[in-house]
Amino acid sequence: MVSKKIVLHFPSKLVDQPIVYKLVKDFDLQFNILKASVTSGEEGLMVLELTGKKENFDQGIEYLKSCGVKIQPLSKDVVRDEVKCTHCGVCIPICPTGALIVDPKTRKVIFHNDKCIACELCVPICPPRAMEVKF
Ligand code: SF4
Ligand code: SF4
Repeated sequence: MVSKKIVLHFPSKLVDQPIVYKLVKDFDLQFNILKASVTSGEEGLMVLELTGKKENFDQGIEYLKSCGVKIQPLSKDVVRDEVKCTHCGVCIPICPTGALIVDPKTRKVIFHNDKCIACELCVPICPPRAMEVKF
């Protein structure tokens, strides 16, 4: 048996397709949705824990790829360098999970690590490169 946490990025044309259901029906996999959202560009984003026999797991992943779903393992973490962050707010609208928000009292940008799904969308757009991927 294999059990892995993965991030799925769905292009907008696949957002309303029953792709995850097919993982259960055709590949006998079990899943637990940890997070799901649709970004402003209408790309779907889902964090799944996927479990099943290794052969089925591999076939399920190949099926997802063949549908145009981008798959990213959730084995890394995104952290913020508090010294580099200038609280400019550029990262806020791009974060699909609300992990980056403005504190209404201080006007500073707060990073909620527990809400972060390590999708990396904020990493390249941060001007001082304060958001970093940790392996
Ligand atoms: S884009 Fe970078 S510098 Fe700006 S608030 Fe976000 S983490 Fe801080
Ligand atoms: S990596 Fe950045 S954009 Fe993605 S969920 Fe974490 S904080 Fe939000």
